[in-house]
Amino acid sequence: MAMLGTVERPLRVAVVGSGPSGFYAADALLKAAPVCTVDMFERQPTPYGLVRSGVAPDNMKIKSVTKTFEKIAAHERFRFFGNVEVGVTAPVSVLRRHYDAIIFACGTETNLRLSIPGEDLPGCHTATSFVGWYNGHPVYRNFHFDLTQEIAVVVGNVAVDVARILSRTADELKHTDISQDALDALAESRVREVHIIGRRGPAQAKFKKNEIRELG
Ligand SMILES: Cc1cc2nc3c(=O)[nH]c(=O)nc-3n(C[C@H](O)[C@H](O)[C@H](O)COP(=O)(O)OP(=O)(O)OC[C@H]3O[C@@H](n4cnc5c(N)ncnc54)[C@H](O)[C@@H]3O)c2cc1C
Repeated sequence: MAMLGTVERPLRVAVVGSGPSGFYAADALLKAAPVCTVDMFERQPTPYGLVRSGVAPDNMKIKSVTKTFEKIAAHERFRFFGNVEVGVTAPVSVLRRHYDAIIFACGTETNLRLSIPGEDLPGCHTATSFVGWYNGHPVYRNFHFDLTQEIAVVVGNVAVDVARILSRTADELKHTDISQDALDALAESRVREVHIIGRRGPAQAKFKKNEIRELG
């Protein structure tokens, strides 16, 4: 019988999730001494996780990391399977029958609830849904946001991204990675003021000075 980790019998690894963690894990495996094959499973039809659906569409520098992922994906021992939700459409027990190892690189996509009164009132949205909307995420791309009034963004890591996207003109956004639906809606936006509200001071804010400068 051929030895595990050789050309005759490569180590078969399944990677669940196609965000940065999944791709860098795949890269390390494909460069490793034992010969590995990597099959990547992603529940969305498209790869790259939050680099595609979280990172702001005008942040082309960060998004350009996908070029590295494309190179990894071009490896002859790498395969990508989209639209496969492990644990739902593909049970882990089935994967275990076909692979020597499984790496779960599923990220953390859920919202952090504030547990305050009014959190679920109409007009209150999580960053996950708004960010997913402007990035064309399949789950959020048809959401509707009222862009006729002032908007308050509660300060967090993504607050500046959201404020910047709301403040930019359609002309500025049209050359970015923004979804067409979001671009059309933002072109009609009547938002004239965006307030970022934080419970602590500027020193504790998660965004950096240059991100504030980018607001113009
Ligand atoms: C709004 C936002 C903006 C951000 N902006 C920046 C930024 O400007 N700069 C920066 O450096 N970082 C930024 N980040 C952080 C960065 O995107 C994450 O740190 C990074 O994407 C995490 O990588 P990951 O691979 O662990 O997870 P993810 O990118 O979340 O990837 C996980 C993948 O696993 C898939 N998955 C989950 N469950 C299953 C399953 N059961 N079966 C199959 N697939 C599954 C998901 O669909 C997803 O594609 C931002 C994050 C967010 C949310």
